[in-house]
Amino acid sequence: MDTAVFRAWIRVAGEVIEANRDHLTQLDAAIGDADHGINMTRGFAAVTAAIEGAATPGAVLTVTGSTLISTVGGASGPLYGMAFRRAGKALGTAPEVGLPELGRALEAALAGVQQLGAAREGDKTMVDALAPAIRAFGKAVAEGAAAGDALAALAEAAAAGAAATVPMEARKGRASYLGPRSIGHEDPGAASTALILAALRDTVARETGAR
Ligand code: ADP
Ligand code: MG
Repeated sequence: MDTAVFRAWIRVAGEVIEANRDHLTQLDAAIGDADHGINMTRGFAAVTAAIEGAATPGAVLTVTGSTLISTVGGASGPLYGMAFRRAGKALGTAPEVGLPELGRALEAALAGVQQLGAAREGDKTMVDALAPAIRAFGKAVAEGAAAGDALAALAEAAAAGAAATVPMEARKGRASYLGPRSIGHEDPGAASTALILAALRDTVARETGAR
C-alpha cells in the first residue's frame, strides 16, 4: 500500500463521515451533546485538503492526526489526532506499507488512544471498535490472509464492536455522566471508528481490484 492508497483511504473516510454526519450526531444526541458528526465532518474536510502535500503513507497519517487535533473540538479530536499521529510515526518514512507494518501502526494508534483517554474495552468508547478490529486483523495476517481478507476482518470486527457498545454503560467521556441511562445506545465514537476502518477496507479493495 503506497501513499496514493493512504490518501484515498483518508479521502473516502471523509466522504463516509460526511454521509453519516447526521447519524453520528443523532447517536451523540442520545448520550452526549449532539456534535460528533459535526465535529468529525469539519475535521475530515480540513484533513482532505491538508494531506495533498504528504509524500509518504506515514506523513499522510501524521498530517491527518495533526489536522484533526486543530479542527475537531471535544474529546474525539485529541483522541483521533493521537491515533493517527501515532500510526503515522509507526510507519516512519517507508514509501510502501505491508500488512505487518499496518498492524503495528494500528496497535500504536490504540496505545495512543488508551494513553490519552485511559479507556479500556467495555467502557463504551471508540476503543470498543478499535481493539477487537486490531485483534481480528492480527489473527488474519498471522494466518496468512490476503490484504483484502485481513481488512475485511478488520472492518467487520470494528462494526461488531461498535454494535456491542449498545448494552454497555459508559465509563469514560461525556456519556459516562448519564450512568445507567447511557445503556441502550450505540457509542458515537465507536460508530465513527467502524466507518473509518470500513473506508480502509473499501479503498484497498478498489485499488487492488483495479490493478
Ligand atoms: P465530546 O464528547 O467532547 O462532545 P465527541 O462527541 O466528538 O466529543 O466524541 C465523543 C466520543 O469520544 C465518544 O463517543 C467516545 O467514543 C469517545 N471518547 C470520549 N472519551 C473517551 C476516552 N476517554 N477514551 C476513548 N474514547 C473516548
Ligand atoms: Mg459530543
